Amino acid sequence: MQSNAHSVLEHVFGYHQFRGEQQTVIDTLIQGDDALVLMPTGGGKSLCYQIPALVRTGTGVVISPLIALMQDQVDALKALGVRAAFLNSTLAHDQARALESALLQGELDMLYIAPERLIQPRTLALLKQAEIALFAIDEAHCVSQWGHDFRNDYLQLSLLHREFPDVPRIALTATADQRTRTEIAERLDLTQARHFVSSFDRPNIQYRIERKDGARNQLLRLLRAEHAGEAGIVYCLSRNKVDRVAEWLCQQGINALPYHAGLSGPMREKHQQRFLREDGIVMVATIAFGMGIDKPDVRFVAHLDLPKSIESYYQETGRAGRDGNPATAWMAYGLEDAIKLKQMLAQGSGNEQHKRNENQRLESMLGLCEITHCRRQALLHYFGETLEKPCGNCDTCLHPPETFDATEAAQKALSCVYRTGQRFGVNHLIDVLTGNRSDKVASAGHDHVSTWNIGNEFSATQWRSIYRQLVARGLLTVDMNGYGALQLTDACRPYLRGEQPLLLRKEIAKAKKAGLRKSQ
Ligand code: ADP
Ligand code: ZN
Repeated sequence: MQSNAHSVLEHVFGYHQFRGEQQTVIDTLIQGDDALVLMPTGGGKSLCYQIPALVRTGTGVVISPLIALMQDQVDALKALGVRAAFLNSTLAHDQARALESALLQGELDMLYIAPERLIQPRTLALLKQAEIALFAIDEAHCVSQWGHDFRNDYLQLSLLHREFPDVPRIALTATADQRTRTEIAERLDLTQARHFVSSFDRPNIQYRIERKDGARNQLLRLLRAEHAGEAGIVYCLSRNKVDRVAEWLCQQGINALPYHAGLSGPMREKHQQRFLREDGIVMVATIAFGMGIDKPDVRFVAHLDLPKSIESYYQETGRAGRDGNPATAWMAYGLEDAIKLKQMLAQGSGNEQHKRNENQRLESMLGLCEITHCRRQALLHYFGETLEKPCGNCDTCLHPPETFDATEAAQKALSCVYRTGQRFGVNHLIDVLTGNRSDKVASAGHDHVSTWNIGNEFSATQWRSIYRQLVARGLLTVDMNGYGALQLTDACRPYLRGEQPLLLRKEIAKAKKAGLRKSQ
């Protein structure tokens, strides 16, 4: 049996060794048992069901939510000589008919089906007449209401267990958090399944997070210096920004294309195909782009805006370096990003609990940006994994950030928030600290509070950095109403009283150096 699987690996797929837990997963299914597989993007999930589908008799049925990608997957399998097909709403009636008869004749190794199609009584009846090798449920986190990709049709997939009790099932996802994991097992009736949880470490990805300081030019420098002519993805928050950045990059001689949900279907398809098939395309995109994209040689993923959670950051950066070769995950961020995301959150739908959860996730993301120790350790820790030693392949490991004793600065910054009633944004607070009598300051009478003009040892930019780090460390929070007011948290008390020493990152960006020199 094992040699069988191995021979398929070699002769069909052209690989010589299994990766990670592939082999055990494959054996589990071949034996007829169920499996729940959590593997990071690029970990090699597809082979976990493709090989057993070929080794077992009958057709392997793959349930995937991404109709647009079925064609690609099927084409790739066909090119390897595998008899694969897909059944979804894009097929004409007679095509579907031909396919059904091929299935019943046992002429198909693998059949991809969209979930909404699978749960139709007609499809189920058809499958009952055929011999099924296994069911693979891809992107299984779509069953989780807690995640972002929830799909109603996925909930009904538990019927597979009742209707086909003897057919082994495998559910796969790259979503790591424990809560989603449990939901998948419960909702898909996979409580008997063997769980395979791989490490989520992607050692070939170098994590780097910088402060925004002319973000477009920062990006351009990265592309020119380290990734000239290479394929990559640049994520932006809004469609409008995607268009502007793509255009600007083109003007700078970069082969960039935009991708977002506001483009027409054919245009999106065209750009996606070019990205997949041509060399060195830089895709500037919203998060509408990426799920299920299998392009092994994406050399960098850049974020020009803060992702809304560490999960999103991990998923998005995970699209880099799937081939295992060195890749860069680079991001430029500023506090205004967090404020913008909070505004969107405040205006968005969803109940209070949901908003609080999302807010918490956002603040964890900010925390990751401002840490002074290894980013990979922090990232893996967030997913419940422990990396014993600093990784040596992230910006904080490679260039440990310079820190300074910010105990007194934090005390001033926090008391300024307190004295002005926790109702003002960072610019106003800085005006008060540095003694800049703006109209707003004057009309609020803040030139009379005790924190007026007590912060001249730092420039406005330096105070901005200090405030950002205080937010990232959870000592301040940005209000949930979306106005950007900074408020004290419980965690800030000892710092407000100056009882707890605090080290913060020293700003080293160009614009700030001048300020540093001035004050030294
Ligand atoms: P996932 O679905 O987990 O994101 P894929 O199944 O698309 O990952 O695999 C990612 C890449 O790794 C693909 O290009 C695939 O061909 C390759 N790959 C998977 N397993 C192996 C293996 N055992 N040896 C070599 N390459 C592999
Ligand atoms: Zn590190």
